[in-house]
Amino acid sequence: MKQRKEQIEKDILAACERSNRNRSDVKVVAITKQVSVSTAKAAFQEGICHLGENRLEGLQQKQTAMEENVQWHFVGNVQSRKVRELVNNIDYLHSVDRLSLVKEIQKRAEQPVKCFIQVNVSGEQSKSGFTPDEAEAFIDAIQQYDKVHVIGLMTMAPFTEDTELIRSVFRSLRELRDRIAAKKLPHAPCTELSMGMSNDFEIAIEEGATFVRIGTALVGTESEGDE
Ligand SMILES: *Cc1c(COP(=O)(O)O)cnc(C)c1O
Repeated sequence: MKQRKEQIEKDILAACERSNRNRSDVKVVAITKQVSVSTAKAAFQEGICHLGENRLEGLQQKQTAMEENVQWHFVGNVQSRKVRELVNNIDYLHSVDRLSLVKEIQKRAEQPVKCFIQVNVSGEQSKSGFTPDEAEAFIDAIQQYDKVHVIGLMTMAPFTEDTELIRSVFRSLRELRDRIAAKKLPHAPCTELSMGMSNDFEIAIEEGATFVRIGTALVGTESEGDE
């Protein structure tokens, strides 16, 4: 874990240097969905205080076992009937992908939730999220839902070796973010970009990511244990 973290830290720094960015503008969210509580604790001990899960059960299991002062992120598909349990127990929600979810959050949240609108830039059938055009219109249309505070946009790049394709996806998300942020909407400052995973976080940082979501490259998978 320590070695992986040091390597990733080097890679992040290099990507920041290449793109003239400050290291402090990029937050690392360790995605712990494939690892045990003890590995999640080890990540926290290494100084990673943003942890992310993609299932409510996994989130609750980690939260019950960890007393540490973690910032909890949820990156998975949200089932409407679990919204109350979810949104009142996390700090960031990366996967707002439909109006019905916004309405449910409005009903169930005790205070405003920091949300990312999920955008399917690449248009792959298998991915959820709005098209870029839809995302912009959607954000304009949800201002009356004051429990949904749109801090930014989230995307997943296609799983491919084609780095230029990946880069173009991240760049498109940044350009969309810039357009929306320029409107200075009170409910949607939209300054953040959640993009970049184990395989592509360096490209994402070069293209402006402010949150990278790194799982396997940082914490490994369960089968590798708690090294
Ligand atoms: C699992 C997951 C990640 C992390 O993936 P890795 O390839 O293991 O880094 C990031 N974002 C989302 C939405 C995920 O589901």
